[in-house]
Amino acid sequence: KPMEGRITDIGPREFTEFLPPVIKANKGKWAYHEILEPGVLVHVGESGDKVFTVRVGAARLMSVTHIREICEIADKHCDGYLRFTTRNNVEFMTDSEDKLAALKEDLASRKFDGGSNKFPVGGTGAGISNIVHTQGWIHCHTPATDASGPVKAVMDTVFSDFQDHRLPAPVRIALACCLNMCGAVHCSDIGIVGIHRKPPMIDHEWTDQLCEIPLAVASCPTAAVRPTKVELDGKKVNTIAIKNERCMYCGNCYTMCPALPISDGEGDGVVIMVGGKVSNRISEPKFSKVVVAYIPNETPRWPTLTKDIKKIVDLYAEHANKYERIGDWIERIGWEKFFELTGFEFSHHLIDDFRDHAYYTWRQTTQFKF
Ligand code: SF4
Ligand code: SF4
Repeated sequence: KPMEGRITDIGPREFTEFLPPVIKANKGKWAYHEILEPGVLVHVGESGDKVFTVRVGAARLMSVTHIREICEIADKHCDGYLRFTTRNNVEFMTDSEDKLAALKEDLASRKFDGGSNKFPVGGTGAGISNIVHTQGWIHCHTPATDASGPVKAVMDTVFSDFQDHRLPAPVRIALACCLNMCGAVHCSDIGIVGIHRKPPMIDHEWTDQLCEIPLAVASCPTAAVRPTKVELDGKKVNTIAIKNERCMYCGNCYTMCPALPISDGEGDGVVIMVGGKVSNRISEPKFSKVVVAYIPNETPRWPTLTKDIKKIVDLYAEHANKYERIGDWIERIGWEKFFELTGFEFSHHLIDDFRDHAYYTWRQTTQFKF
């Protein structure tokens, strides 16, 4: 049905069409909300109406059969309404405690063949919610790591923290499979970022045929790309040259020119960043900082990455004060202590970041002990 005032039918339908009736009726008039148990929330309206939400962990890439099953659950318990959160959780909403009990029972009964729960409930409050991540090897052209693979491996390792509230505060984990950063790694408690470590290869046979050479030159943020000519089969061909010492392996030129592939089995891998957040509770929002400079892509289960992340989460659970996010905790104890506790090797390349007054002082003050 066309919405009033819309002048075309292009784009998604107006979101208010999809709101459950109880949410529509109480929009802007909520009195309070609380978390009843991990993964289950209640919102109470000024009218006394209640909305019970059950948050379920989900994958970012889903099969059609899985989506059909999610829709079947929503039809059965929630009058056909459901929502996907920005962290790829699915939220089923009901308006009574009886319906909530039936929904939870139904979700708990649905298992994979191996016996694990298809629809795990959790991801709220002082725990670990689903991981925001990017496209990875399955879809994008510039990834330095996979997305779904390491995310699955990491989430399996910290899964108990999805289902309970043992942590001092929420821990947000994000993964971006290259520095273009379609994820939220700059502002997450733990960020996993794919990095290339070698310049693009140049396929001179194709540069002139597949690429707008001026565009490839203009795409390089460090001016490492220039036009040139090389001799190929006795003919001079237009191509490009790369000044390797200027290259920061960002892959921008490859985005413009498919004859400059940058993915490399040996060079590619991930870094770990910590301490970012968007909340202004206790302290202002923070950018994350690099604490592990390189881990190779150890497919299929990324054992070093998962071990290091588990270590950070467990140390945080043990040492942080209640309500402190990872960044608040580290700033209270000092970055030197963080490296001592984790055993991560410190180098002068780490924990430096953007040229913002608040951030470029860590390694430059006389208080920094390394
Ligand atoms: Fe593609 Fe990079 Fe975005 Fe990953 S982070 S989806 S590789 S642009
Ligand atoms: Fe320039 Fe980035 Fe290409 Fe390197 S990878 S040549 S820095 S655009």
